[in-house]
Amino acid sequence: MNISSGTLHALILLFLLSGISPFLQSYRNILVNQHLVTSEYITAVNQPINANMFAKENKVLIIGIDGCRPDALLKANTIFIDKLIENGAYSFKARTDEISSSGTCWTGMLTGVWHNKHNVISNEYKNPNMDEYPHFFHRVKLAKPGLSTYSIAHWAPVHKILQDGDADVIKSFQSDDSVTVAATKYLSEADVDIMFIHFDEVDHAGHTYGYGPEYEEYLKAIENADQRVGQLISALESRQNYENENWLIMISTDHGGSETGHGKNIPEHTTIFYIVSGKDAIKGEIKKQVFVIDVTVTALTHLQIDIEPSWNLDGQVSGLPES
Ligand SMILES: [Zn+2]
Ligand SMILES: [Zn+2]
Repeated sequence: MNISSGTLHALILLFLLSGISPFLQSYRNILVNQHLVTSEYITAVNQPINANMFAKENKVLIIGIDGCRPDALLKANTIFIDKLIENGAYSFKARTDEISSSGTCWTGMLTGVWHNKHNVISNEYKNPNMDEYPHFFHRVKLAKPGLSTYSIAHWAPVHKILQDGDADVIKSFQSDDSVTVAATKYLSEADVDIMFIHFDEVDHAGHTYGYGPEYEEYLKAIENADQRVGQLISALESRQNYENENWLIMISTDHGGSETGHGKNIPEHTTIFYIVSGKDAIKGEIKKQVFVIDVTVTALTHLQIDIEPSWNLDGQVSGLPES
């Protein structure tokens, strides 16, 4: 068969415009069988034409493991988190709020400011200052209303700082397993742009058996959380459009603990880990001091949302290249 490239492109354009009719399907087979074009080429030109063909969609997955001490994470056998560390930036010396309570620290992570601004000073969530310092989903929805936001948690109070319209999906469950089932389903099937996931059972183990690398039950709970992280990553990678997406995966915690409690301003309670993984993450240990409030600013930056000085955020970008 003798065919000029102009004719070939005209035929492919026809193919593109017409969809797969039986005639064109058989013509496609002829082109491929005669090695005039590859099937990959035809598949490529048959994609819908839009801007996303050229720019990958930036997306963010934040996995929060409540009450997970960095020294115990380092000791536990965590193959999936280790892989994320290999493909990203990390600090095991990051710091959380001096009020190392869940409500205060998760609010810091998700607003990008310390408690003197967001005003959540306990798990009671009395008078949070969401007008000035909203959940970062709020800023996403103002800047890019088309992006879809998911918040899926074991500890339901983390949702208290969400205002109407901030999250497209808000779910709370009674176990980390149920959180995982729901989150993996959304991640594999839904048009997710940003998802925050909260696991609570490491903190439960700490309160029951003790926080620290010397407690076997605590380490086991971290290993269980790691398995769930593995399931989430598999779900992410199974997404139909995964090749065209650019996910930033962040994992961190709200606070540490000692004996069977937390809440104080001591290193065992306020030292946390921070991991940012994915194509855009820098690789290796982050040398500067990282803080829990950096999560919001880093996530917004990956989503290409400019941080306005008037927002008065305390966090900085950590784990992405300097712009
Ligand atoms: Zn907590
Ligand atoms: Zn706790």
